[in-house]
Amino acid sequence: MTEIISPKMAASRNGMPIPSFGAGTNIGLVREQNEDSLIAMPPLFALCDGMGGHEAGEVASGIAVKSLLDEAPIHADGKALGRAVIAANRAVLAGAEQEKGRPGMGTTCTAAIVEGDHLVVAQVGDSRAYLLHEGSLQQITRDHSLVADLVDAGRITEDEARVHPQRSIITRALGNDPDMVPDIYELAVEPGDRLMLCSDGLYGMVVDPVIEKVTKETPDPSECVDELIKAALDAGGADNVSVIVVDISSSDEGKGGGQTADATSGANTKRRRKRIIGFVIAFILVVGGVVGGTYAYAQHSAYLIDQNGYVTVYRGLRGHIGELSFSWYEKTTDIKVSDLSASVASRLASGIQVDSVASADELLTSYRQQVFDSQSSTAGAPSNTTVNANNPIANSSGDAASTEGA
Ligand code: MG
Repeated sequence: MTEIISPKMAASRNGMPIPSFGAGTNIGLVREQNEDSLIAMPPLFALCDGMGGHEAGEVASGIAVKSLLDEAPIHADGKALGRAVIAANRAVLAGAEQEKGRPGMGTTCTAAIVEGDHLVVAQVGDSRAYLLHEGSLQQITRDHSLVADLVDAGRITEDEARVHPQRSIITRALGNDPDMVPDIYELAVEPGDRLMLCSDGLYGMVVDPVIEKVTKETPDPSECVDELIKAALDAGGADNVSVIVVDISSSDEGKGGGQTADATSGANTKRRRKRIIGFVIAFILVVGGVVGGTYAYAQHSAYLIDQNGYVTVYRGLRGHIGELSFSWYEKTTDIKVSDLSASVASRLASGIQVDSVASADELLTSYRQQVFDSQSSTAGAPSNTTVNANNPIANSSGDAASTEGA
């Protein structure tokens, strides 16, 4: 099921001016069904890539977009969008129970709301959101997939992930776990920025530098969608391929729609947002109402970061939410960042967010292995890690379930 409104016909759901956008999906050259479903209904844009085989994936992604259309907020409210994705998860689970599809069917979900200079994205699975900012394309979302975990752990490269035999294993999806929680990203964007959502049928076939070039050099968003889909087909079209491109227009235009623009942002936060424009990933927000507030959620999360050259673990969330910080020092390890691969080191510079301290420990184990492997060819082995007395926080996330994906 695909809900695409042509830009000319689009009626804004919230009275705000309609951004220029394009959206399209293609079955590809190999698959017999298109299991991707899209929404392009400003200010809501969403892409769901279904899985489960024998039409079940199509049913799952169709249920998800239908539910999202009913439940999504009309303003760029990250928590409300997260709750809509949680409702979509329940709808897919209920659909399976009512035998609309098949047990075990599931779908990814990347949902975005664009409102002036405010962008929120809710993410589950391995479809992606990218932002083109000043000519450079950056992936906003983190994939919930086995290969993404392996890349983060420095075990494989992005290029190896693209052809990895287990690249279709999704570690979080709609339709598996009643307690699933999406990742929420909240970003300040600028006029001239371009949001791009896509299924793995694009980035699995076409490398990011080519995606960036096409996205940068094709001014019309609908043509850009067509060009990106064409690039995936030219590369073999092994999967369904879906793309949505949205051009961010001026926030002042955004204020002209007559409706209250953003009840939560006063003039001060507005000014602060302007100052942080350019940071692609501002911070991960959370679905407060569902998991009992940011504080509780943050206590279960953890991140690893390069501090004075050593891998350091914090509980909580990277960065700040307004004036608030939700992070607590956990431990410093003896793993030198300089002993790790360049790609891991660069991720550690900005911090690697994980679901729990237990997940952080798993990454530390893989880093130690990496250091050991690189040193065993010479002589020394790494020594033990400093661990403080804090009890590890139990992993309450829904990441355990794995689903064979499309
Ligand atoms: Mg796919």
